[in-house]
Amino acid sequence: MSLRTRFAPSPTGPLHLGHAYSALLAHDTARAAGGTFLLRLDDLDQSRARPEWAAQIARDLAWLGITWDGPVLRQSDRLPRYRAALAALWERGLLYPCHCSRRDIEAAASAPQEGAPLHGPDGVIYPGTCRPAQPPGGPLPEGVALRLDMTRAAAAAGLDVTPLSYKETGVADPPGALGPDHFTRAIGDVALARRGLGASYHLAVVLDDADQSITHVIRGADLAPATPIHVLLQRLLGLPTPIYHHHRLIRDETGRRLAKRDDARAIAAYRAEGRTPNDIRAMVQLSPPHHLGPNTLGG
Ligand code: GLU
Repeated sequence: MSLRTRFAPSPTGPLHLGHAYSALLAHDTARAAGGTFLLRLDDLDQSRARPEWAAQIARDLAWLGITWDGPVLRQSDRLPRYRAALAALWERGLLYPCHCSRRDIEAAASAPQEGAPLHGPDGVIYPGTCRPAQPPGGPLPEGVALRLDMTRAAAAAGLDVTPLSYKETGVADPPGALGPDHFTRAIGDVALARRGLGASYHLAVVLDDADQSITHVIRGADLAPATPIHVLLQRLLGLPTPIYHHHRLIRDETGRRLAKRDDARAIAAYRAEGRTPNDIRAMVQLSPPHHLGPNTLGG
């Protein structure tokens, strides 16, 4: 199958240099391979997503010379799909409702007998406050947060027998094979639905990548710790695992990662200053488009 990749920004602010690097790298890789490049909007959090930002993202990408194939996928249009997957996991006894606030979780995780709270891909590792001894049964609850019972999930995915591994390029330190301990201790019971939001990022991204037949996920190294969660979900839901490429992060002069609030580094600000798309490529150390060689991400 030919290479298919995507760029999936959240329309909650302007694109900055870090996004530009991610989008250009994924786009150039697809084009060099004669493959497909898709644009998806991670707009599940409707309290923060804005149509103006979505429009600005499309303008910035077009200005950078990025073209995408087919229509833009919006996560907010896919809630029934996410709900069906939650129902399937619920039926198998792998989910439970959670009523903890972020503050509850921090307080429970840092209680004196717990020692210093451990951090996983979603912040403080969930201390298990709402985890029931037995799967809750009954109908799938609505409007509440739902967490994956990681001990049961790891067993259901067969990780006690075959450790989980996946193909990754571009990282200094690939994960090797991961057993159930990694999931229970270093990740914990992640949320697959958040209160008031139909699904969490982890569930949505896995279903979107599968439904869009993505063969290569090209995204920042900040997401590398979340990838085992995505591969585990693919196992549980019977979905294929793409090849993952976690790219370097773009940092400012002081070595700090760029964030959305760095408006000075917004692509629109550079454009207003009279910079060109090739200036942006130079800033993130990417060759101009006519220098594109064959991609090296493998297949
Ligand atoms: N919206 C996510 C982000 O910007 C996308 C992550 C992904 O590509 O999987 O971090």
